Amino acid sequence: MSKPVSQMSRGELEQFAADVEAEYANVQANRMALDLSRGKPAADQLALSNGLEDTIAGDYTAADGTDTRNYGGLRGLPEARELGAELLGIPASAVMAAGNSSLSLMHLVVSVALRHGLWDDARAWQHANAPTLLAPVPGYDRHFALSDALGIDLHTIDMTDDGPDLAQAQAVVADNPDIKGIWCVPKYSNPTGCVYSDRTVEALAELPKLAAADDFVVLWDNAYAVHDLAYPAPELASIHAAAQRAGTADHIVQFASTSKITMAGAGVAFVGAAETVLKSLEKQLQFMTIGPDKVNQLRHSRFLQGRLAAHMQQHAALLQPKFKIVLDTLSTELGSLDIARWTQPKGGYFVSLDTLPGLATEVVSLSAAVGLTLTPAGATFPYSQDPADTNVRIAPTFANLHDLDAAMQVLTLCIKVATARQLLARGNEEA
Ligand code: PLP
Repeated sequence: MSKPVSQMSRGELEQFAADVEAEYANVQANRMALDLSRGKPAADQLALSNGLEDTIAGDYTAADGTDTRNYGGLRGLPEARELGAELLGIPASAVMAAGNSSLSLMHLVVSVALRHGLWDDARAWQHANAPTLLAPVPGYDRHFALSDALGIDLHTIDMTDDGPDLAQAQAVVADNPDIKGIWCVPKYSNPTGCVYSDRTVEALAELPKLAAADDFVVLWDNAYAVHDLAYPAPELASIHAAAQRAGTADHIVQFASTSKITMAGAGVAFVGAAETVLKSLEKQLQFMTIGPDKVNQLRHSRFLQGRLAAHMQQHAALLQPKFKIVLDTLSTELGSLDIARWTQPKGGYFVSLDTLPGLATEVVSLSAAVGLTLTPAGATFPYSQDPADTNVRIAPTFANLHDLDAAMQVLTLCIKVATARQLLARGNEEA
């Protein structure tokens, strides 16, 4: 049984380094093609939704008599809005079902907030000197890329086990009117997997009141609302209810999709917001489309009606062994060495790992050199800048069990090699 590297003598450290370097050379000689970079469902998960095909069977008429084959219905089919309501935990009247991607709805919301405002009045983020969104880190790279692409600055705050660091968020929004909103993935956050605490949800609902900006928006990306791995699943408090109490309902915009429920990229996306906000979105959306794919909305509503929880349990059954491999390997290979920290998510798609400072880039490149692709180091931070260079995002869902096992052996080995090299180099400097 190995001991913490910090307690190893110089001789023990040299032996440890020699062992892991020999192992690494062996892996290099037997290079494999492995990939832990993609937060995508695996083929067996996608197959759970093959029944989508059978739900139409020539019957294209929605419950309200709409012929889904034709144009129109910008806000989405009533039954699809019901599905969105179930995911987001809000009334169907506050939901728009539109398109196949929640990310594109986030792009729409942020663009409209920037150029036109969300409330049909004079407020619009473009009037600010430097419109800025708060980015809890580590976080979801596409939120950051989307903001950057629209010319919006990002201000990082820390992510804790309970969600974004509230003291940091509260201080900066109260102080700076250019801070226009905050990105949130409240349940099984990407990548840490944390579920925001009740207190955090309450405080985030209050944030628009505290903000110096009068057009502050909480961007509530509930992408993993029903993606539990362990039961009973943790409950996320309702930001909708908290916002009603706080009087901030007009400043909360929620997102979800069926991307990781049915078929990624072939699902239905939802935005949930106050009526005034939905109207502002529709006003711009009408220039982009005559209506959504209502046939797909009908297919999804019929397929998931009354069986969403059962369907998600089938996903969980496929994913549990994968997360177990990741967590067991991390614990067996790294636990006693005390050279990394990682999260133990109860749902979602990722495990977030922190190496010792300054090693994430090295671990990713050591892995690449032996055929293991990881999410690029820094990806979980705005502008790909992880100041401590520690964070590595592990995406276990797509690989099969055999490949995942091999990939985790390689990853943990690369962490050992990078750490041993750093400690020996440091020791040489000090000597
Ligand atoms: N939001 C988060 C937090 C995600 O992790 C992902 C995909 O990985 C998405 C949104 C993408 O969602 P969609 O497929 O609905 O655009």
